[in-house]
Amino acid sequence: MSREQVAVERARRAFLTGRSKPLENRIRQLKNLQRLFVERQKDIADAIKKDLNKSDVGTQIYETLGLEGEIALVVKKLAEWAAPRPVEKNLLTISDTVYIQPEPLGVVLIIGAWNYPWAVTIQPLIGAIAAGNAAVVKPSEVCVHTAKLMEDLLPIYIDKELYPVVTGGVPETQELLRQRFDHIFYTGNSMVGRLIMEAAAKHLTPVTLELGGKSPCYIDKNCDISMACRRVTWGKYTNCGQTCIAPDYILCDPSIQDRVVEEVKKSIKAFYTEDPKTCPDYGRIINQRHFKRIMAMAEDSTIAHGGDNDEFDCYIAPTVLRDVQAESKVMQEEIFGPLLPIVTVSGLDEAISFINQREKPLALYIFSPDDKVIKKVIAETSSGGVLANDCLVHFSVSALPFGGVGNSGMGSYHGKFGFDQLSHLRGCLIKQLKMEGVNDMRYPPHTHKKLGWARFFILKNPDLGWMGRMALLAVLAVVAAVVLQRFLL
Ligand code: NAD
Repeated sequence: MSREQVAVERARRAFLTGRSKPLENRIRQLKNLQRLFVERQKDIADAIKKDLNKSDVGTQIYETLGLEGEIALVVKKLAEWAAPRPVEKNLLTISDTVYIQPEPLGVVLIIGAWNYPWAVTIQPLIGAIAAGNAAVVKPSEVCVHTAKLMEDLLPIYIDKELYPVVTGGVPETQELLRQRFDHIFYTGNSMVGRLIMEAAAKHLTPVTLELGGKSPCYIDKNCDISMACRRVTWGKYTNCGQTCIAPDYILCDPSIQDRVVEEVKKSIKAFYTEDPKTCPDYGRIINQRHFKRIMAMAEDSTIAHGGDNDEFDCYIAPTVLRDVQAESKVMQEEIFGPLLPIVTVSGLDEAISFINQREKPLALYIFSPDDKVIKKVIAETSSGGVLANDCLVHFSVSALPFGGVGNSGMGSYHGKFGFDQLSHLRGCLIKQLKMEGVNDMRYPPHTHKKLGWARFFILKNPDLGWMGRMALLAVLAVVAAVVLQRFLL
């Protein structure tokens, strides 16, 4: 048996003991995980520094703080989320017990990406633990140091049989994908997303695909361009542009392009100094392969700012490209690096049609003081999420589902959405062995009269609230008595 098979079998056996299910155990595991982030913060930051050159503080802000917040939320809300959820009744279910019972799916496979290696791997794990599942965790091999640390630390803090870590690259992930899971939660690029779905299909395993794509950013000419550009600059160059929801490119009127370039330049200087290479808050490209990929993208565009680079150090300066054409290289695929192309459009309608001619993005940004403009963009486009007048921060709102649509992914998570995503929402209907007369309309012999009753019960479905339900219950009792009398007695 391969190492991967052993981990999955062991997780399955641990799940079957039932110990992942009691709420107290889920909460205990989550609190232990929380302790990991407090006690091992320095180890986490050191590994991320080696992998992505993020600063200590940056690691806390962008990686672990959100996870601690998610755990705190789950611990507070779990009893409510896991409880039976009563649903609205109708004439046919008025005297029944009708509810949704969330239940664990079983063993979940979590495949993480490298760009925020803790955030995108552990956040789904929090959802999996909260929902009462076992989970096999496969961190991205691209973040070598972080993957090793995760492999070392998780078994110390949480149940190592229920939540094993399997490290490795493509062959190991493929071996994992040959095993049977009850859900696969994948974060990464769309090409591999297709392979994940193909492998999942063999076992009819449901998937969540957290993918990427080109997230557009429309800047309206009437907005506060200085403030808009400061927020866009932050959204773009954080983690050196290697953020799934980074604004990929700007769409704006040609009349404001010069201002946009100037304001982005100003913010780059304010955030990362005159020399971003020596600034502790400016990251590095993950590896030489991605460095070359990003540099090649800029080849046929005009650099308005930045462009400095150092392959040995995986450094690419914050770069702005102007007058970028739709056909240019940088507009063909997700950039995932610190290049910010500006594409000019004649106005809002052209921006909307530019967006709609492309794959549905993971995020869509609009900067405008005009609510009508914002609402028009929301009404006439589609994307995983939409954020007006800021960048990235919708990721941190746990009351909102986070996920893609179309090419940017399927399924969503964060907060209760993560719990629901990794639960089976089981429909429960509990009837009583009474009032058989009401059922007569569905039993053969089928007659037009019975059809008339069925039409009445199914089509007349007024929502009368609690008082109405009580009144209807009384009516129902009378109807049942009449039906009983007419058909049975
Ligand atoms: P990656 O290279 O780390 O790959 C992701 C995972 O897929 C890894 O664990 C890797 O082992 C596995 N993998 C790679 N090739 C495979 C193959 N052939 N078969 C099976 N498994 C394989 O990460 P990446 O794909 O470079 O990540 C960047 C992409 O992820 C970007 O498109 C980004 O937008 C997206 N992303 C999305 C989110 C989100 O929340 N939606 C978050 C982060 C990144």
